[in-house]
Amino acid sequence: MTQEFAPFSFDNSFVRELPECYERWQGARVPDPALVCFNLQLAESLGMDLTLAPDPRLPAFFAGMLPAQGSEPVALIYAGHQFGGFSPRLGDGRALLLGEVIDNQGQRKDIHLKGSGRTNFSRGGDGKAVLGPVLREYLMGEAMYALGIPTTRALAAMRTGENVHRDGIKPGAILVRVAASHIRVGTFEYFAARGEFEVVEQLVAYSLRRHYPQRQHDPLPAMSLLEEVSKAQAKLVAQWMGVGFIHGVMNTDNVTISGETIDYGPCAFMDRYDARTVFSSIDHQGRYAYGNQPGIARWNLARFAEALLPLLSTNEAEAQARAHGVLDAFAEDYTQAWLEVFAAKFGLVDTQDGDLDLFMDFLKLLGELNLDFTQAFRALSKSLIPGDDHGIVSLSGQDSASLESWLERWRLRLAGSSPDKVQQRLLANNPVYIPRNHLLQAALDAAESGDMMPFEQLLKLVSHPFTEQEGFQSFALPAPDDFGSFQTFCGT
Ligand code: AMP
Ligand code: MG
Repeated sequence: MTQEFAPFSFDNSFVRELPECYERWQGARVPDPALVCFNLQLAESLGMDLTLAPDPRLPAFFAGMLPAQGSEPVALIYAGHQFGGFSPRLGDGRALLLGEVIDNQGQRKDIHLKGSGRTNFSRGGDGKAVLGPVLREYLMGEAMYALGIPTTRALAAMRTGENVHRDGIKPGAILVRVAASHIRVGTFEYFAARGEFEVVEQLVAYSLRRHYPQRQHDPLPAMSLLEEVSKAQAKLVAQWMGVGFIHGVMNTDNVTISGETIDYGPCAFMDRYDARTVFSSIDHQGRYAYGNQPGIARWNLARFAEALLPLLSTNEAEAQARAHGVLDAFAEDYTQAWLEVFAAKFGLVDTQDGDLDLFMDFLKLLGELNLDFTQAFRALSKSLIPGDDHGIVSLSGQDSASLESWLERWRLRLAGSSPDKVQQRLLANNPVYIPRNHLLQAALDAAESGDMMPFEQLLKLVSHPFTEQEGFQSFALPAPDDFGSFQTFCGT
């Protein structure tokens, strides 16, 4: 008898402790699962037996077709507000949780598949994913991770050997992703909408134990969880804003309790600064535009608070008051987090009165001068001394009196700090390389036709976003004018 396949030491607390929140399931059979990308460093941190990396059973396991020791695949149950409307039953329609492992930092992590076939939650969908969007999620997650932003990460991308119908025939693929957990606001909403508050209560207790253990013995657990999720989301969205990231589908089923970014669908990084920027082809109203993200995060938290309401107090008015207290705190936490993120981008170690105006005036100028967000911030490191040819003034290519006068205000604000330290902070907080839409698109197009080189090259650059690489200057530039207006599509 062959030995059982055991790539990881699984320990499945969600399956053990939350029996109402999933259905046991198996991946669909696919003709020829094969690894396209494998994140060796991440695999190692998850305690994977790396002698099994070349094992032909690994792709079959990652497709959800081959059982492994200790893995108990399940489809997760959740609901969600999508573009403002409530869908009472979403769930993993093309995804499976394979199990949990404890990583080498002692953190519990989910190993999860996307594209593993139909489940009882698929509704009209085919349960599949295709190569372009799978690689897009792979690269976006790794870029965010390297930028220091909480995120799910890709462990592997696979081809399935299948042809999948999307706008034409596309190569089928599966993403293997790793997350602190897959518990979402929508998980709570599902049970709250059915009036099953004993499950909501179990979810609260489990989430606190797993993500905010310092608060697990608090007297009012639902309130503690609401507060922690609010703080985590405030910080997360402030970090998105700091790199010009637009999630694109901030529905409550895509809002994690852990505070990680999840579900890279039609997301993108803003190029020219404009708070109204939207890339997603399905976001006709601009609901999830760059500048709307903090307000939407608060809206999503309000849905979370609603799902927890009966657990916040037995007295409804008191429960409402508590929920409003957290939502008010969210606005303050977000503003504070935003100020901290942008202070660092401007080379500052602290914030003081007047900084908000200073920062906002800069952003306004970026908009007026039609400057690239990432490039402009990076150029600040060359703008500390008046008259530097490579600084931000050289980017604007037009009458820049307003920019010069803003730079004077900024230099005054920096006066007293060591120029070397400021320079270091500017370089450490303003990336050179982000997944620019035109570069990513070209890399995905090449990958679809079998050439993985451009993808691997881009992945390497965005994995070290703050380090300039010789010979890759063009990767730090905005798209050429003929790239046109970019749109992202949800058909992951
Ligand atoms: P997402 O847009 O990826 O966050 O997914 C929203 C919901 O749609 C989830 O319940 C997914 O499982 C489901 N879904 C998305 N694409 C498919 C598909 N191709 N087949 C089945 N379900 C899908
Ligand atoms: Mg989702």
